[in-house]
Amino acid sequence: MIIFDHVGKKYEGGFQAVQDVSFQIERGELLVLIGPSGSGKSTTMKMINRIIPHTTGTIRVNGKDNTTYNPSELRRNIGYVIQQVGLFPHYTIAQNIALVPQLKGWNEKAIEERVEELLLLVGLDSELHASRYPKELSGGQQQRVGIARALAAKPDILLMDEPFSALDPITREELQKELLTLHEQLDITIVFVTHDMDEALTMGDRIAIMKDGRLLQLDTPEKLLYEPAHGFVEQFMGKHRIIQNPELMPVTEIMAETVTTAHPNLSPERALSLIRQKKITDLLIVDRQSKLLGAVSAYDLIKKMDHIQTIEEIMTPIQPILTTKATSKDAIILMDEAPSGLIPIIDDTHQLIGLVTRGSLLTAMSSQWTEEVVS
Ligand code: ADP
Repeated sequence: MIIFDHVGKKYEGGFQAVQDVSFQIERGELLVLIGPSGSGKSTTMKMINRIIPHTTGTIRVNGKDNTTYNPSELRRNIGYVIQQVGLFPHYTIAQNIALVPQLKGWNEKAIEERVEELLLLVGLDSELHASRYPKELSGGQQQRVGIARALAAKPDILLMDEPFSALDPITREELQKELLTLHEQLDITIVFVTHDMDEALTMGDRIAIMKDGRLLQLDTPEKLLYEPAHGFVEQFMGKHRIIQNPELMPVTEIMAETVTTAHPNLSPERALSLIRQKKITDLLIVDRQSKLLGAVSAYDLIKKMDHIQTIEEIMTPIQPILTTKATSKDAIILMDEAPSGLIPIIDDTHQLIGLVTRGSLLTAMSSQWTEEVVS
């Protein structure tokens, strides 16, 4: 657990970057810090492991004032991932991951086992990657190594400073999903800084919105959308703001009617080219009567395509689903349970007639859109 109690940061030169911030991060929570550039989110995060020392107030980490820890000890016990990855170029992937365990004095064998376990955990093949150098890996793979390295010494807190901002959209979504899965598996507290509201809404158990060094609101994504506590929060949610009465808006009015679908007998190669061409993360599978059968994710497809003949072999059932009678409010509520941010809309005969995605839901319900409809 991390507790900020009236914390402030005044930089040398007198600039007050963070002002009187108080909040609590529960154990096992994924908290997103978001705000415009310069709002103090990075400073706030970096004060947790004292990369930046706070100047007023108290920060408690696992029950203890963080100024009472030895600073290097504190940093070794808190994983840290940044946008530029920061791998050492002349160290192999295995050596990069082994750094902190070595500093902590683990024995060779324990380190070797841990490196292998971590590469597997972040979806890299240890035989293929352990002895390579960072520049021989793609940006996404390097960031996977960055995460593995941060987790190496089994920290119970992970700080992530815009970790996926430099990645292309597909890799970024893939890593977002994987981080959520890792988070579920590991019972680790994550503090995640981003300036991207889509990312915040996808990742956060709760989201803290900052402006001018102050914490304006800290709430669940739904609460922020329904009840922005502050004019700036409302404005900052911008296109994400939910209109007044989503319970009155039929889901059929906000769904996309043109949905990319495929039949189950499609080859994995053609499915992948379709996914790339349409820039989608999941392909919905329908039969000849347009009845919804399931879905195939780009991620699964890439992983398993060498071992299958048709996409039917890796098709999974899709949940949740809504019918044409549902309202937009149903979609908002259910979106939380939609692992890939998609909710297919079907009619009484199970025919696929549309799709609500997290992105389209948020866009469709924006204030601009309401104005357009009203006028
Ligand atoms: P964010 O992460 O929200 O973009 P930061 O926490 O990085 O914001 O910065 C908050 C404010 O503090 C900014 O105005 C920035 O210019 C200022 N700041 C950051 N680092 C320093 C520093 N070392 N000295 C003086 N001001 C700084």
